[in-house]
Amino acid sequence: MRVLLLGGTTEAGLVARALQGAGIEAVYSYAGRTETPVVQPLPQRVGGFGGVEGLVGYLGAEEITHVIDATHPFAAGMSANAVAACAAAKVALLALEREPWVAGVGDRWTHVADIAGAAEALTGPARRVFLAIGRQHLAGFASQPQHHYLLRLVDPPQGAVPLPQAQIVVARGPFDVAGDTGLMREHGTEIVVAKNAGGKGAVAKIAAARGLGLPVIMIDRPVVPDRPVVRNVAGVMDWLAHSARLGV
Ligand code: NAP
Repeated sequence: MRVLLLGGTTEAGLVARALQGAGIEAVYSYAGRTETPVVQPLPQRVGGFGGVEGLVGYLGAEEITHVIDATHPFAAGMSANAVAACAAAKVALLALEREPWVAGVGDRWTHVADIAGAAEALTGPARRVFLAIGRQHLAGFASQPQHHYLLRLVDPPQGAVPLPQAQIVVARGPFDVAGDTGLMREHGTEIVVAKNAGGKGAVAKIAAARGLGLPVIMIDRPVVPDRPVVRNVAGVMDWLAHSARLGV
């Protein structure tokens, strides 16, 4: 058995630890988006594979028998490529996918389908917006330059961000509710824009918004082709153990 772990998330780090602990041969794959990725207890590789074809080639060359897709729920391109490549290469695939967050009592969410929908939902007078969506899609909000944006990024931006009024906080999760409540108070946040990532590492801002009575524009998850999914690390390890028993 030789596993390719598609990572870039807190959960992938937990899987890496479990694989290492179980003595399973595995490679951890980063896209290479952050400057100083967390060091994993497994051999690492960094960078795209070159689409479906490139991934099929990698799976063959590295004699991968199992792929675990523990990427972020919004990394839909990588997840779709994994489905197609594993089917073509006849390699077993499992996704570790966090449950999405669900609005509860006190939450004031507006659901939108994507980044464009979130930008559209910000049409109106200037507000102080906590735009908690990472770095990649900031340009999507350039159509709403009237707002003051608070951005939280893993790395300091290289060059100017595409928003005229923006304040940047450089920080890496997981975050806590007290810290996020303080951050939003300090910046006078009036509305939060978030991706429905699910999981614990990024939920603090949602709980903080609830506590402060602030509205949240919640970007729903992109659609990913069907694949077997588990919700936790134990599910991943059970799947691998089952495969080993079957000799696949
Ligand atoms: P994406 O749009 O689905 O992926 C675009 C391309 O990046 C993929 O086609 C692939 O390139 C490469 N790629 C993505 N994840 C990879 C991985 N783990 N290993 C090797 N190549 C990878 O993905 P994304 O949204 O840019 O996310 C990139 C990474 O950041 C992922 O590892 C994800 O877990 C992490 N992340 C994403 C978010 C988010 O909000 N999107 C948040 C936190 C962490 P090729 O086609 O060349 O193979």
